[in-house]
Formats: sequence, structure tokens, C-alpha cells
Amino acid sequence: MGEEKNFMYSVDWFADLEILRYDVPGFDSLSISRKALVYYLSQAALEGRDILFDQNGKYNLRIRRLLEAVYLHFNGERDTDEFRAFEVYLKRVWFANGIYHHYSCDKFTPEFSQNFLENALKDLDVSFLPLRKNETADEMIAELFPVIFDASLYPKRVNQTDGEDLVQTSAANYYDGVTQKEAEAFYAAMKNADDPEPVMYGLNSRLVKESGVVREQIWKIDGMYSAAIEKIVYWLDKAEAVAENEQQRNVIRLLMAYYKSGDLKIFDEYSIAWLKDTSSFVDFVNGFIETYGDPLGMKASWESIVNFKDVKATVRTETISRHAQWFEDNSPVDKRFKKETVKGVSAKVITAAMLGGDLYPSTAIGINLPNSNWIRSMHGSKSVTIGNLTDAYNKASKGNGFREEFVYGEEEKELLEKYADLTGVLHTDLHECLGHGSGKLLQGTDPDALKAYGATIEEARADLFGLYYLADNKMVDLGLLPDKEAYKAEYYTYMMNGLLTQLVRIEPGCAIEEAHMHNRQLIARWCLAQGQYDHIVELVKRDGKTFVRINDYARLQLLFGRLLAEIQRIKSEGDFEAARSMVEQYAVNVDPVLHAEILERYRKLHIAPYKGFVNPVYTPETDASGNITDVRISYEEGYVEQMLRYSRDYSNL
Ligand code: ZN
Repeated sequence: MGEEKNFMYSVDWFADLEILRYDVPGFDSLSISRKALVYYLSQAALEGRDILFDQNGKYNLRIRRLLEAVYLHFNGERDTDEFRAFEVYLKRVWFANGIYHHYSCDKFTPEFSQNFLENALKDLDVSFLPLRKNETADEMIAELFPVIFDASLYPKRVNQTDGEDLVQTSAANYYDGVTQKEAEAFYAAMKNADDPEPVMYGLNSRLVKESGVVREQIWKIDGMYSAAIEKIVYWLDKAEAVAENEQQRNVIRLLMAYYKSGDLKIFDEYSIAWLKDTSSFVDFVNGFIETYGDPLGMKASWESIVNFKDVKATVRTETISRHAQWFEDNSPVDKRFKKETVKGVSAKVITAAMLGGDLYPSTAIGINLPNSNWIRSMHGSKSVTIGNLTDAYNKASKGNGFREEFVYGEEEKELLEKYADLTGVLHTDLHECLGHGSGKLLQGTDPDALKAYGATIEEARADLFGLYYLADNKMVDLGLLPDKEAYKAEYYTYMMNGLLTQLVRIEPGCAIEEAHMHNRQLIARWCLAQGQYDHIVELVKRDGKTFVRINDYARLQLLFGRLLAEIQRIKSEGDFEAARSMVEQYAVNVDPVLHAEILERYRKLHIAPYKGFVNPVYTPETDASGNITDVRISYEEGYVEQMLRYSRDYSNL
């Protein structure tokens, strides 16, 4: 029945964050075994939460526990400014999985006093405090308070500032006691340029120097993070028993073998098996996957998502994938950098059922994995866009005044009203299904040659591939867009975001730090600069407000194409200097006057610039022998309740 639920998408709002809820349409009609599979994988998705807290900074777990102890057992008056500021701080720590902003990577500034927290702690029964053996409350306070309150101590989770020692100046817990030079030398010595199938060195370990010796602490059972990984494997084992088919069972087995051994060769085997499993209805990611949190881009944060296929919406991505070779052949990229055969670009639209680790509460709306370069070129990749999350974002933002404030004129507003939801998801599809999978490295190019600029260049490549093709007639011919005007909605949205509105995520006086934001500003600023004499796209002022105006959409497409060709060349040749100058010139710096104007206009709208999600709650029903007979889903749990429950039930480290 197509009954519209009265679904509340917005759950909570604090600091610069809004918490949304997502619906899981179709869960109730899954078979019992699929429900059980989703349930077991969901448990595995939650068990790794503490790993991420620890990866994001070595004091994070203790700080979280200290704050939670105060929050749960505080004896004083809660209806005060200090307590409310404390509560906001704790909510931010939960959201960021640590004390650094999830996006800007800067340490939060507490808006309550040191005195308040000290008194609150000293008031508590010591049994509630996260003390180490023989540690006193005073010793704990002496260790942790500077980390919380001193803004100059470990100020950044990931530092990307050109010219500094990125390892030593980043608070992320991926290295201890080593310099950037030592870390780079350690991994350079492992690499063999002739190996056609190199593992992703350093992906699942912390690099430390002890008594003068540099060595890896591997994240595996009986290694670092063992207690959490054992729990993950416990649930994976149950999932294996109810897997849909032999292929999926094999995927789960390989993942368990990798968690047990820490062997990156097995991780590659797992990745290949996973990307080839395109027939299973329920699917998942669980592991050390993305490397954005490591300033050197090698070590991966832990994340998980459990999902199942949105069959209806998948028709769209399957259409794109089926024509992958056509897109590769017709792209404006130099022939030397194209793939002769694009292999196995599989794509589907999924319904997220559980988010964990680095995908929770802030999440991606599209995922393309695995990240290994040789696997991608030999075996392809699996690409998904997440339908129910995009839907929740769109529904939650309806009528918030954003477009009214920032879109130039009526014509553009109508364009966006009519097409932007569709062109937005289509751009994500193209980015994920084709963009990341396109192109190749020249023989002998080190996949890590672009170092700290690699992530930005890669995202730009994927975005540009999508932007370029959105305006192609092929989109209309394939039935993906209704007409030849529609693409303009995404062009306008993209340029407005890249030039103006994404700045709402940056604090006054700060530069842009994050790869996806670098990428968007790079593309938008480059096109603005290239197109300025011909007025292809420009910034115009009206009543003291700055707007984007696009005068020639067709030529903007050509600019996207030219930039795509250059970005692909940089990637294929591993041209570090070109990557650096491109990123430093266009992607990083912010015009302070324009920035202040955008922040002021945005502030008046009272919209949170970042969003994240609470998960639904799954409750299994079992028979006398413990077999799952049904799984109920509910959406009632609030943000604070959920975080406290996760900290209680999945506190593994
Ligand atoms: Zn991407």
C-alpha cells in the first residue's frame, strides 16, 4: 500500500549540525532470512564504533567516556548555560567521533569553563570515571583537560598545509613518534614498482617508532583493536550462516579471514570477491576503507554500511553502466589515458539500513569501491548511490529559504525547482558509476604520486566526468533526462555551491581543508577564471549580494571538458607539481570579504550546514533455539538516546 507515513525527518539541531532520520522503505517486506542477514550485519556495523574514535585521536575514547559520565550522573542544576554548552559539546563529540570537527578537522572550542567540568567530575562517584588502573581523578584531569581546553595543543586532526610535517602536526592516531619522512621512507621501501598487484601498503595499521625502530601495529584479531574486531567477526560469522548464496558466503568468509590475519593480500581477494558479487540483494561494507583521515592518504578509517537493493531506481544506474564503454571512448581525455576496455562497472541504487563507523552520523550518498588501483583497472569496481538518504536530505531541506536567498533569478529558480532533485542524483550516479572508474595510470606511475593532493584530484576527475556528460545528448537519448534543458539545473547548482554556498561550512578566517570541498572550488574557480573574458560564467552583485550567473551553459560544458582532460593527465602521469599548483591556486584560499557576506546571509536562514543521521533500531524476535523469526524496525530513538546506547552496548575498546 502506498500509504504516506507522517515521517519526521528532522530529529535534533545543535552547533552547525542537524540530525535527520532516514526511512528504510521495503524492510518490512524482506524475507525472514534477509531480515536476519541485515540484522547480523548491522550488529557488525556498530561494533567498530570505538575503533574510529581511537583512530581520530588517541585521547578521544577517554574524553568521550569522561563526558558521558558527567552527562549521565551530573548532580547539579542542568538548566544552566554551562550545562547546556557542555551538552552541545558532547553532542558534537559524538557526531565527529572525537574532539575534531568531522569536516574541517579543527579541534572544537568548548563553550563551558574548565572549572565547570572539574567541579562536575569531582562531584561524581569515582566508580563512574574512566580511570586507568591506579589513576586518580586529578591525574586524569591533568592529562585530558589540556587536550580539551588548550586550543593550541594538537589543534588539527588532519593537517594538509603544504611544507609542514603532515604526520607530526596531525592529531589523527595513525602514527606515533615518527616523522613524515620516516613514514614515507618506511613505505617506499616496501613498494616494488614492478609489482602488478600491489597491496595497499599501510592500510590497516598504525605506524610507531619504539626504541628507534619503526614498525606497524596491525589492526586484527590478536593485534591492535582486537577486542572490537572479535565482536565484528562474531556477527559476521552469524551473517555467513544466513547469507543469500555461495558467492556472498565467500565474501563474508574472506573478510573474516582478513580480520583474523591482517593480511592485505586477503583483503584484496575479499575486495575482488565483493565487487563481483552483484547478484546478492543485501550487501554491505565493513572494514578499513577510506584514507581521508590520514594526512598521507594511506591508513584507512573503519566504516560500515548495510544496505539492500532499490530495484526500481537501479534501472537508472544500470542504464549508465551498460554504456560505460561509450562514455570512456567519447570523453575529452587524451587517448593514452583512457581504458581500452572498461571492466565491470556495476552500479545500483541502494537503501541504507544501517550506518556505522566513519559513515555515521555524517555519511556519503554515493560509494565506489574498492579503492585499490590495480583491482579497479583489472576487475572494475562496485558503485552505489544511496536513494533513501538522498531522499531524506531533499525532504528535510524543502522550504528552508536557501534557494530564495542564493539563486540569482526566477529563471534559475524554476530550473532548479523542475530538475535539480533529478540532476543531482544523476550527477552522483555518473560520478560514482563512471567517473572514478574511468581513465588509467600510465605504466610505471606510482598510484600515490600525488600524495596529499591525490584525493582532491581524484574527486575532481569523477565530478568533471559527470558534469561533462550531463550536458550530452546521450543523457536524453538514454531516457535519463527528460530534455536538453535539464542539465542546466546541475550546472547552476554546482557553480553556485563551488563558488559561494559551500563556504558556509568554513569558519571565518579559515581556508578550505577537505578534499571534496577542494575539488568543488577548484572546478568552479578554474571555470570562472577561464571563462571570465567571454562572460561564460560570472559573479554579479545585486543589492550588495553576490550571485552566480551563467551566461553560456554550452561553453561551460566545454570548460568542464578541458579541465577534465588536464586533471586526467595529472592523475595518469602522476604530475605532482601540476597537482600542487592547481590545488593551491584554485582550491584552498577563500576571499574573506565574499566569505563574510555568504556566512551572514546564511546565518539569517537558520540552517545547519552539516547533516547526519540517526539509525533505525532493529529488534529481533527469536524462537526457543535462538533462531530469528522476525526483525522489527522502529524509528523512535532520538540522537542522545542512540549515542548513549551505542556507548553502553558497543563499548569494545
Ligand atoms: Zn568520489
